[in-house]
Amino acid sequence: MTTIELSERQVKIVQIVKDRGPITGEQIADLLNLTRATLRPDLAILTMSGILEARPRVGYYYNSRSGNTLVARAIGKLRVKDIKSLAIVVRESASVYDAVVTMFTEDVGTLSVVDGEGYLVGIVSRKDLLKIAIGGGDVQKMPIGMVMTRMPNIVTITPDDTVYLAARRLISHQIDALPVVRTYVMPNGEERLEVVGRLTKTNITRLFVELGDGEN
Ligand code: ADP
Repeated sequence: MTTIELSERQVKIVQIVKDRGPITGEQIADLLNLTRATLRPDLAILTMSGILEARPRVGYYYNSRSGNTLVARAIGKLRVKDIKSLAIVVRESASVYDAVVTMFTEDVGTLSVVDGEGYLVGIVSRKDLLKIAIGGGDVQKMPIGMVMTRMPNIVTITPDDTVYLAARRLISHQIDALPVVRTYVMPNGEERLEVVGRLTKTNITRLFVELGDGEN
């Protein structure tokens, strides 16, 4: 995804052209109390990126098809750390019963499973627990470590990754949640993952609503 960021002035120019286009560079400059020469680099960037189009003797007009590009740019700036939820974890030695109780008390559908040192070893979802329930196992005795999806098959995300990448992973792996992790390299070179949050479809839905607020 492109990372071109529009300056405040460029955003203003786009708004002016959206509202009043077609409009000449001279007229835009007047509205902003700037000279035509000052605006030239901004107009060049906006036309080169396809947001504005320039027609000789007509002026600038807004390319409505670029709307998606602007939305994509805005989305590309959002980071996982901006919208993630708190990590909800259980120990791998906890029972299936404990995991079910934690899901209810914490009101979540996915739990991260950690070892004695607190590092990520697995993930357990509602359906994993339902499978055990219909299988007739002893949920009080069976450790969650026996039913979880385990490392290295866990799909994760880091706080500095984009929300867009997280959403792509949720969709492509057909899962509801990603553990947000930081990687630690142990003295022996092995990598361990510390769980610092969770990123769920609910986070994405909430963000979607926030982005739409004020316009709808
Ligand atoms: P459910 O099917 O219970 O509604 P999911 O679709 O999230 O929930 O989970 C489907 C399967 O994928 C489960 O077996 C679960 O253990 C596994 N799973 C869930 N999240 C992840 C993840 N981040 N990485 C790898 N596997 C996962």
